[in-house]
Amino acid sequence: MHYFKKFHVEPGSKVDLSTIDASFKDHHESHQHALPEIETYRQKLADLQYLMYAENKRSLLICLQGRDAAGKDGTIKHVLGAMNPQGCTVTGFKVPTKEEAAHDFLWRYHRTTPEKGQVAIFNRSHYEDVLVVRVHNLVPQQVWEQRYAHINHFEQQLADSGTHILKFYLHIDPEEQLARFKQRIDDPARHWKISDNDYAERPLWDEYTTAFEAALSQCSTPHAPWFIIPSNHKWFRNLAISRIVTETLEALNMKFPEPTVDINEIKQKYHQIVEKEHEESAPQ
Ligand code: AMP
Ligand code: MG
Repeated sequence: MHYFKKFHVEPGSKVDLSTIDASFKDHHESHQHALPEIETYRQKLADLQYLMYAENKRSLLICLQGRDAAGKDGTIKHVLGAMNPQGCTVTGFKVPTKEEAAHDFLWRYHRTTPEKGQVAIFNRSHYEDVLVVRVHNLVPQQVWEQRYAHINHFEQQLADSGTHILKFYLHIDPEEQLARFKQRIDDPARHWKISDNDYAERPLWDEYTTAFEAALSQCSTPHAPWFIIPSNHKWFRNLAISRIVTETLEALNMKFPEPTVDINEIKQKYHQIVEKEHEESAPQ
């Protein structure tokens, strides 16, 4: 489980994001150089998701977190692009609606967790309730403080019901974020993505770092691990995430269900295929 181990947050460990290189790209010299590997994992992912759908026994929940422009949308496009849309759902979480805010904080997330056989991707997740909420004091400290335990119980309960959970923190540095904001300015097709809010959050970089580190340290568990993905290079981020999802699904040893019909009987009845005991070409 090479990449799984490499980027995995060890349960109980104390995360210090300043020690993690956001530009890491392993042994790959360039995107071009990594293309064959990227393609290999896309194909594996497609096959494994098909198997999960066919098996219809368990499900996968992928949570994506990161700062603005960290690449959550791009990751979804890449990872989902490899999958059959029939077996996937994507839910983006914004500022809670009036109805959502009138419920307990986990309500809106629980409603869109994956059913058996399905992959669900959360674009932002229940972690917003200990990130933006904590940084902006949207609830009192004693309320958000309890949420780490609530989140761990919630994820344990999902895991106990057959949902495999993978959580990815897309790690970029402030220079890369600013460069990406600038690219949006330069591209009229991306102007719609720009919000004042993104710039307003930049002075709070360190407060967000503290909040991310707390979530990563307190909520990486054996049943719902966190991964810190170096994401300054978009292609490396895509490769690392596809690879971790692949490694996780491979380890499940999923099996196609047994056919519900007698295949030989169907062959003979409808296709006139008669299984021959001895090959005609056998030596005389
Ligand atoms: P975007 O992902 O760019 O569409 O932005 C969504 C915005 O919704 C971000 O600024 C999030 O921080 C914010 N948001 C998401 N979940 C919550 C939450 N539970 N409470 C407050 N703001 C949230
Ligand atoms: Mg945004």
